[in-house]
Amino acid sequence: MHRLFARQRAQATTPDGGVDLDMLGRLVTEAYEQTERDHRRADRSITLMVDELDQLNRTLERQVAERTVALANRETELREQNLRFDAALSNMSQALLMFDANSRLVIFNKRYCEMYGLSPDDIKPGMLLADLLHRRQAVGTYSGNPDEYAVALKAMIARGETFNTSIELPNGRTIEICNSPMPDGGWVATHEDITERRRAEKVIAHMAHHDSLTDLPNRVLFQERLADTLLHTKNGNRLAVFYLDLDNFKAVNDTLGHQFGDELLKRVAERLRGCVDDNITVARVGGDEFAVILPDLASLDDAAALAERICEAIREPYDLFGHGVVTETSIGIAIAPDDGTLPNHLLKNADMALYRAKADGRGVFRFFEAEMDATIKARRALENSLREALVEGQFTLHYQPILNLDDNRIPCCEALIRWKHPERGMVAPGEFIPVAEEMGLIVAIGEWVLRQACADAATWPNNTKVAVNLSPIQMLNAKLVPVVVGALAAAGLPASRLELEITESVLMQNTEATVAALHQLRSLGVRISMDDFGTGFSSLSYLRRFPFDKLKIDRCFISDLSKDDESGLAIVRSVTALANSLGMVTTAEGVETAEQLDLVRMVGCTEVQGYYIGRPQPLKEVSRLLADNLPRQAKSA
Ligand code: C2E
Ligand code: MG
Ligand code: MG
Repeated sequence: MHRLFARQRAQATTPDGGVDLDMLGRLVTEAYEQTERDHRRADRSITLMVDELDQLNRTLERQVAERTVALANRETELREQNLRFDAALSNMSQALLMFDANSRLVIFNKRYCEMYGLSPDDIKPGMLLADLLHRRQAVGTYSGNPDEYAVALKAMIARGETFNTSIELPNGRTIEICNSPMPDGGWVATHEDITERRRAEKVIAHMAHHDSLTDLPNRVLFQERLADTLLHTKNGNRLAVFYLDLDNFKAVNDTLGHQFGDELLKRVAERLRGCVDDNITVARVGGDEFAVILPDLASLDDAAALAERICEAIREPYDLFGHGVVTETSIGIAIAPDDGTLPNHLLKNADMALYRAKADGRGVFRFFEAEMDATIKARRALENSLREALVEGQFTLHYQPILNLDDNRIPCCEALIRWKHPERGMVAPGEFIPVAEEMGLIVAIGEWVLRQACADAATWPNNTKVAVNLSPIQMLNAKLVPVVVGALAAAGLPASRLELEITESVLMQNTEATVAALHQLRSLGVRISMDDFGTGFSSLSYLRRFPFDKLKIDRCFISDLSKDDESGLAIVRSVTALANSLGMVTTAEGVETAEQLDLVRMVGCTEVQGYYIGRPQPLKEVSRLLADNLPRQAKSA
C-alpha cells in the first residue's frame, strides 16, 4: 500500500477500527488536488526555466560569435603583422639573429645566409649557436672556435653585457657584430656589413691628410711628420727642411688656364717624388708650394745635392696636353737644430731662405742665414705700408704731357703713380710697383689709378686723352674689362679718351683670354698702346698678335740717339716705318734734348714724350697746361 494512502486510511480510521469513507474520500480528493496544484506549479517553473535557458543560450551564442569574429580579426592582424615583420626582417640590410636563453636560434633573416654564404638547409630555428658557427666554418665564413665562442658569448649575455666585435671575411668584407642581451636570458645579434663605411672613413682620413690633386701629404700631415721627425732626431743629428715654390706658376695658371696649372702641379709632384727615397716626406703645402723633410742629414752637402737635383728635375720642359711649358723652382733650406728646433720656426726660416732664393734669380736654392731675417722684415714692412698706403689715400697721380709732332699740341697725358710716403717722401713707381705686383696688390692699386685718371681727365678739354699703365697682372685679371668700364662710367669719360699702355710681357704670356680682353676693350673705343717697346724681347711678332693703336719706343733707344749713331737711327726709323705701315701712332719716350726731338721727328715718329716736352706733374699744373693747349713752338737744337 502506498504510504500516502496508508496515512490517509490511518487518518480516516475511526476509533472503532472502521474506515470513515467520506473522510477517506475527502483526504484522497485533497491529495489529488494538491498533486494537481503541484504539477501545475512544476510545469510553470519548468516553462520558466526553459525560457531562461533559451535566453542564456542565445546570449552565449552571440558572445561566442562575437569572440569568433574578434579572434578572426586578431588572427588576420597577427598574420599581417607577421608578414610585415618577415618582410622587414628579410629586407634588412643587416643580418639579424635571435637566440633564447638556451642559445637556441629563434629567428634569423635571409641577409644572414647571404652574408655568410649559408644555404637555407644550413640554418633552422632551434639549432644551437655553436652548430650554426660550425656550419659557417664549413662554408669558410667562420675562422674561430665555434664552441669556445658560444660559451664565452653565453657567459657575457648571462652577465647582461653587450658584446660588439668586427670581423674580416675571406671575400674582403668587414662585418660589425653586436650581441645585445634580452630580459628573458636570450639575445639579439645584428651583423652589419661596414665595408663601404670603413672605406669611406679611410678615404676621409686620407683626404684630411693629403692633397687631392697630387696625392702628396698636405700641410697638416707635413707638420705632423716634421714634429715627429724632430722628436726622433737623435742628439747630434741634423735634419733639413726644404721649402719650394714654382717660379712662374701663376703665369701658367693665368695664361693657359687652371687645367694646365693643375696638370703642371701633378707633374712637378711626380718629379719631386722621383728625386727622393720613400723615407723622405714630400708635401704640397700651398698652391704651388712644396716642402721636403730630409731626416738624418749627414752633411749640408747632401742637402745641397738634393736641392740641385730637384732644381734640375723641375727645370726639364713639360708637355702639357701638347703644350710645351717650362718652369723652375726656387728652394729655401733650413737645418735643424741650427736654424730652429720647432716645426713652425724651421718652416718660417726655410720660407725666408726661399724668399732670398727667388730674389737671387730664381731656379736656385739658398740655405737660411740669420741676416735674412732683417732683409725680410724690411720687405714685409714695405708690403704692410703699401697696403696701408692704399687705404690711407697716400697715392697720387702725376701727368706727363705727350706732344703730337704734326700739330704741336698735347693730345694725351700719361698718368704716372706716385706714393706720398709719410716719412720717405715721394716714392717713384719703380720702387714699389714690382712689390705690389708680387703681392697681387697691383690689381687694387691699378683700379684706383684707372678711376682717378678717368675722373681727372674728365675735367680736361674734350679732345685730351689720358694714358694709363696696366701691369701684366692686371691684364690677367678677369675683372679688367668691367673695372675699365666702371671707371669710365663713374667719371663720365668717353672710352675714346682713354689709352691703356701694356708691355710686351703681357703678350709673351699670350693667351686667348688676354687677347680677347684687349679686343673687348678696343671695341668699346679704348685705345691700346704697346709701352716700352724694345725693352722686352723686342719681337716684332708681338705686334701681329694684336692691332695696337700706338707704339711707344722705349727711352733706351732715344737716350743714345745722335746724328752719328747710324745704327740707332736705323733701328728707330725701321720700327717707326713698320708701325706707321700697320697704322700705329709712334711715340718716342724719354726725349730730353732738342737734338733728340729733331732726330725722332726726322725718323718719322708721330709723338714725343720726355722731360724736354714736360715732366710728370701734379694735376693742377697739367690742367693749366691743357687749358692753354695752343700749338707749341717745337724748340730746335
Ligand atoms: P713708363 O710707362 O714707361 O713711364 C714713363 C717713365 O719714364 C716715367 O717714369 C717717366 O717719369 C719717365 N720719363 C718720362 N720722360 C723721361 C725723360 O725724358 N727722361 C727720363 N729719364 N725719364 C723719363 P716713372 O713715373 O718713374 O714710371 C716708371 C714706370 O712705372 C712707368 O714707365 C710705368 O711702367 C710704371 N708706372 C707708372 N705709373 C704706373 C701705374 O699707375 N700703374 C702701373 N702698372 N705702372 C705704372
Ligand atoms: Mg707708360
Ligand atoms: Mg714707357
